[in-house]
Amino acid sequence: STQEQTPQICVVGSGPAGFYTAQHLLKHHSRARVDIYEKQLVPFGLVRFGVAPDHPEVKNVINTFTQTARSDRCAFHGNVVVGRDVTVPELQEAYHAVVLSYGAEDHRALEIPGEELPGVFSARAFVGWYNGLPENQELAPDLSCDTAVILGQGNVALDVARILLTPPEHLEKTDITEAALGALRQSRVKTVWIVGRRGPLQVAFTIKVLGPEGEGPGARADGPAPALGRCGRAELPGVEEGEPGRAPGGVGEATRAVPTGDVEDLPCGLVLSSIGYKSRPIDPSVPFDLKLGVIPNTEGRVVDMPGLYCSGWVKRGPTGVITTTMTDSFLTGQMLLQDLKAGLLPSGPRPGYAAIKALLSSRGLGSL
Ligand code: FAD
Repeated sequence: STQEQTPQICVVGSGPAGFYTAQHLLKHHSRARVDIYEKQLVPFGLVRFGVAPDHPEVKNVINTFTQTARSDRCAFHGNVVVGRDVTVPELQEAYHAVVLSYGAEDHRALEIPGEELPGVFSARAFVGWYNGLPENQELAPDLSCDTAVILGQGNVALDVARILLTPPEHLEKTDITEAALGALRQSRVKTVWIVGRRGPLQVAFTIKVLGPEGEGPGARADGPAPALGRCGRAELPGVEEGEPGRAPGGVGEATRAVPTGDVEDLPCGLVLSSIGYKSRPIDPSVPFDLKLGVIPNTEGRVVDMPGLYCSGWVKRGPTGVITTTMTDSFLTGQMLLQDLKAGLLPSGPRPGYAAIKALLSSRGLGSL
């Protein structure tokens, strides 16, 4: 059939998940065409707007993605917000298969009093600010205080702490934004507290994040569910740690934090909450598990939606490094190609981008 000759495949999102899925499809099917739709003007998702500017070696994957984008069977269409400018059913009409790889655009809220106060930001917004994410350029964090508190103890918390404490002259050679560099040059922040629910043995960051010499801010165990008092105070209930050394697995990951009722005040001028990213549903026609924050799927096949697939953070939840995302995206690509081979995708030719382009222009919109 024509479908076997030219499968038209659409990928939504141009982060690692989108690009690695596209790479797998193009490599393992000699005629497949892949269109990548992206809401930003520019590609690469969190590799551009998340990964810290002082870790340029991580950003080298951009070279591989650029190779994929250069294929004459691959096209990038930026400035298209799927779910708003074009719906998923419209994409499904135009393509033989659609892969949702749109990542995790929200942050998890602490849901504690004081979260909305000035001087309290999500680490996600702060990261977007120093990396040039358009929607966060107005953030203007006040760095005139000497103490900042980061709530959360994952890799992102460590990135943020490191950026706050790195001498600006070390950041000059990176692609950090001029505005962020200017603000960090004026910064008076000297102390960064990383406040986590669990102890130093259970922190979720990898040593590499601390910096090449293992330097960087230390972690300190403190209590769960802090309340943010009047701007500038983080009140932290104390915590009784379990016995990390004896927990199953030997590294204490199963240890639970238990509130002790002790409360400690940490005067500070900046609070960054860093307890995780969160995916959101983008189209009512696509099933979404609000509790887990993922599209329900079996190995990347969206449940009960033939021809619809997912990969990356929206498939697994917002954890894991780029190589984890690569592995799961290759798997999704493999499932899609299996279904194609088994004749489970719609037969007959599909118009692909030509139809979407016409739809967008009928709405007064255009892609890049
Ligand atoms: P994303 O990279 O978020 O890509 C999703 C893309 O979809 C984005 O481009 C987004 O704009 C687009 N999109 C969203 N909604 C729509 C829509 N409606 N329509 C069209 N497009 C849409 N990993 C490492 O290996 N090393 C690191 O040093 C590292 N540092 C990190 C630092 C931070 C702050 C964060 C948050 C993560 C870091 N990671 C790091 C993890 C890594 O970034 C992720 O594993 C990876 O980016 C997940 O890929 P993804 O494609 O699922 O999501």
